[in-house]
This record gives sequence, structure tokens and C-alpha cells, in this order.
Amino acid sequence: SSLLRASEKTASSRTASSDDGSQDIMIEEKRRCPDGDGHTIHQYLRGRMLGKGGFAKVYLCTAMDTGKQYAVKVVAKSNLVKARARQKLQTEIKIHRTLKHRHICQYKHYFEDRSNCYILLELCHNQSLNEMIKRRKRLTEPEAAYFLNHLLDSVKFMHDNSVIHRDLKLGNLFLDRDMELKVGDFGLATRVEDGDEKRKTICGTPNYIAPEIIQGDKSKRGHSFEVDVWSIGVILYTMLVGKPPYEAKDVKATYQRILANEYSFPGALELSERVKDLIRCILQSDPKDRPSLETIMAHPFLNDSPLPQYLPSNLLHRVPVWQ
Ligand code: ADP
Repeated sequence: SSLLRASEKTASSRTASSDDGSQDIMIEEKRRCPDGDGHTIHQYLRGRMLGKGGFAKVYLCTAMDTGKQYAVKVVAKSNLVKARARQKLQTEIKIHRTLKHRHICQYKHYFEDRSNCYILLELCHNQSLNEMIKRRKRLTEPEAAYFLNHLLDSVKFMHDNSVIHRDLKLGNLFLDRDMELKVGDFGLATRVEDGDEKRKTICGTPNYIAPEIIQGDKSKRGHSFEVDVWSIGVILYTMLVGKPPYEAKDVKATYQRILANEYSFPGALELSERVKDLIRCILQSDPKDRPSLETIMAHPFLNDSPLPQYLPSNLLHRVPVWQ
């Protein structure tokens, strides 16, 4: 039985049993013809592993018929035994495939075989902002403004399309060859059908999670688009400081710091008043007090400070000298 009704395709991978990621293997997609019962075979060469997620492995992948390169997200069906896990993947695909934007990692195609589900994605050559920050320790303000600009563009587009991402963090902000930011991983995203509907499930990653999500079930307040705005504040802080604002020794302590909204700017860094003002303005405990995306876009940090139009990829390793 097909996992997704949307893609009535089956395929078989030649070396499914030796799928340890250490060798190049050929993946075969058996694509059913739209009319009649014939099918065509499409081959993909799976190359090196690009990264690992909670339940997926992501590899470099080349379509043999076109020579085009992609990232392929491979989820073993053995990880989808529970209905909840299947539901999660289905939701991810259902939402991701509808979103097409310059700053969203483009969903390309879905297929499955006996052992795995495959999601073909736009290839992002330069990993994620997480790796960049680890190498660089922290970014300069013009760089942070550049990435924030891309991120806001992308989240504005999602929200305009009733999608809340709910897991915005450095590790889900990928960089392509031209250092364009691409938001990925829609595994926790949700589409708000009714404008007033509030989501009540716990989701997100501890360091970036908004206070109303932690309180969630207790207060029955639910949460909405403002959770993404909160994460944007955490991301901006983390790009500039090098570690998340509410980081603590364990998840419980992090939650406590978030609930108390306890963070500070390291004095030694000499951050501009402009950017500190923007971060303070975003990281407000009450979601109603947080600015709209438009208000953030209009903030002096993005309008009265230098904003690079593009970044060279040597900045992945080297601190820029702004002239
Ligand atoms: P999960 O949903 O299981 O957390 P992710 O979507 O976060 O999986 O992907 C896991 C890792 O794979 C990422 O952290 C990243 O390193 C890599 N990755 C994911 N998508 C791409 C892509 N489009 N291009 C390049 N690398 C990617």
C-alpha cells in the first residue's frame, strides 16, 4: 500500500539491504504512466551523505536521465511503523510541496520503494547556518542582517500562505552555492485552516521554543504565527553572539530561562544599539507584544545599517573586513 495517495508510484532500490551510506548506490524509481498500466524506470545515483536528521538521512543525488543534482532525504519505512511517524512525514510533504519561494529549499519530487521513502530536494551546497556559526563562532552585523532579510522574506511567504514552520533554527536554514538562505525541514510545520485556530501540540527544539508552547497545555492558550517570530529573535541573537540566548545545562533549565525571559548581551561583543533593540523587541514573552514581520522588516537594523546584496562563500570560513 502506498504511503502517500498523491504519488502513486513504486520503485525498488538495488542494494536496499546494504544501505549504510558508505557507498554510492543506484536508486530506482518505477514511475507509473499516467494513462494505461505501463511504467518507466528512473535512476538516481545516491552519493555521499550530506547530513542526518531525527529519522532521515540526506544524501547527494544525481538523476541519471537529466544529470541534475539534488539532495535526497531518505526515510526508512522501518522508521514509519507508528502511525504518528507516518502522519508526520505526510504532513511535511503535503505542506512543503505547496511552497515555492526563492528562500525555501524547493521540494522537487517524492517516490518510494519497498524499503524507503525518498524526498528529492533542491541541493544546498553550503550546509546550514549552524555549521557556518560553529566555524566562524559568530557573524558580523551586516552578515546577520543579510540572512535575517532572507529569513523574513521566506517566513512572510509561509505566513501569507497560512503555514507556521514551528521549527525555525540555524540547523534548518540551509545555504546554497550563492550563499542564499533556504529554509528547510517542514517536519513540524502546520497549516492553519481557520484564521483563529490555535495549535496545542508541543513542538520545536528546546533552545528556540517560544514560552507559550512550553506553557501550552497548562494554560490552554495555544499558539500561532508568533512562535516563528520568537524563533527569528533567537536566530538573530545566536548569529551575533554565537550561542542561543536561553542556553542552559539541560532542557528543563532552558525552559525555565525561557519562561523567565532571562537572557543578556555579552558586554565584550559591542553589539549595536539598533540590533539589541530589535532583539529585545522580538523576544517578548507575550506573543501579542511581539512585532509583526512587516514591523521587523521596517526596523532601522535592516534599513539604516549596511545590508550586503550578496555574500561570497569564503565567509563560511573567514571573518569579513567591512570597508
Ligand atoms: P530531519 O527532518 O530528519 O531533521 P533535515 O531535513 O533537518 O532532517 O535534514 C538533516 C540534515 O541533512 C540537515 O541538517 C542538513 O545537514 C542535511 N540537508 C537537509 N536538506 C538538505 C539540502 N536540501 N541540501 C543539503 N543538505 C541538506
